Amino acid sequence: MSGMDSLESTLAALAARFDDALAGAANAHALDEVRVAFLGRSGEVTAVRRGIGTLPPAERPTAGKVINAAVEAMEAKLAAARTRLESAALERSLEDSIDVSFPGPAANIGAIHPVRRTAIDVARYFTRHGFAVVLGPEIETDANNFDALNIPPDHPAREGLDSFYLRPDLVLRTHTSPMQVRSMRKHGPPIAIIVPGKAYRRDAIDARHLYMFHQVEGLMVGRGIHFGHLKGMLLGLFRELFGPWADVRFRPSFFPFTEPSAEFDVKCPACDGQGGTCRTCGGSGWIELGGSGMVHPNVLRAVGYDPDEVTGWAFGCGLERIAMKRHDMNDIRAFVENAPGFAAGLA
Ligand SMILES: [Zn+2]
Repeated sequence: MSGMDSLESTLAALAARFDDALAGAANAHALDEVRVAFLGRSGEVTAVRRGIGTLPPAERPTAGKVINAAVEAMEAKLAAARTRLESAALERSLEDSIDVSFPGPAANIGAIHPVRRTAIDVARYFTRHGFAVVLGPEIETDANNFDALNIPPDHPAREGLDSFYLRPDLVLRTHTSPMQVRSMRKHGPPIAIIVPGKAYRRDAIDARHLYMFHQVEGLMVGRGIHFGHLKGMLLGLFRELFGPWADVRFRPSFFPFTEPSAEFDVKCPACDGQGGTCRTCGGSGWIELGGSGMVHPNVLRAVGYDPDEVTGWAFGCGLERIAMKRHDMNDIRAFVENAPGFAAGLA
């Protein structure tokens, strides 16, 4: 047997023992021991390399190559074994730390903003009764916001202190009522619309006021329309919004664009109209919700309707105010503070 044959059988035997040792190594530390024992400075391969010196000089380069190839093969097996052990360890640690049957954290489920919810509910009621929903510009002409609504130039609301003027003739609408004017100019009678939308007034912010708020406006004009129709529609609306016990009352008031005019209140949901020490209604048993009345003949004339032919009613109320009563809230600022979970957490 030549020296080379002997070297190759030595290497084959060494490789077999290396494979056995590798198969028995159960962790990184054991793998390292295998590496040192076979490939380390005083390991088995080094001992074989030393044997090269006993070979005839002509065979030595070939012997070196054969040994190097054997070392490369062993290193590759070692690396593969290390990767295998590491991924097994990772899987074990995942199994320890993840209990797939454990309930997940609660998701933050969104909810429709209560003001929008209220607007949707109001619109649903009126559209069911044949009303159209119309939206309009938030920047209005002075003429539509005031003049056409019978609000004279000397009215305090027209002063810059109460309204946001963009130009002498343009204002951020102070109410949704200009859409009454725009709608009636566009369509002859009869007309039945509601107008939900934003309105702006220069109010200081407190628990009851924001300088931007939402209103809903209702208007019905036609032959023989009277105050009883208004009362019936509002009673139906608030029974739908608050519950079948809801009741509405009217108190005489004054608005430039209606005659006669009335403020309307809904029976307090907290005390069922009993008042006393109830904080929700301040003891009156009723909650003010908005203004209403029969459309002033001057308003009808301003849009080209004939007040001798048609009559109509109009009302307007704040959507925040309704939403606060529906959800038993006492601070209007909560609507715009954008607190996570606010809408979902309401009563
Ligand atoms: Zn009350």
